[in-house]
Amino acid sequence: MTGVPETGGRRLDGNAAGGVLREVFAVDPTTAVSTCAHCGRPAPLGEHLVYADAPALVVRCPGCMQVVLRCASDAAGLRLEMTGVRLLRMTPAEGASG
Ligand SMILES: [Zn+2]
Repeated sequence: MTGVPETGGRRLDGNAAGGVLREVFAVDPTTAVSTCAHCGRPAPLGEHLVYADAPALVVRCPGCMQVVLRCASDAAGLRLEMTGVRLLRMTPAEGASG
């Protein structure tokens, strides 16, 4: 036993997630509903509280004021930390097929 679950032929490498993740990052994020990992309240990201003057953009839950995500973009690249998001739910854009 190695501690790694035996998955046989079901396991793929991370490239297999690319298509779904492209869909996640292609939607309007302000309409995505984030469920707070701290208090469990779901709310559209557009209703969260944003502090843009920190080294990273900080997004706080409108219910409990805890940090739900941080995002930074600089010469080192783009970084997104979402430990305060339990679930991020997006509905398909109107007119989208599939
Ligand atoms: Zn909260």
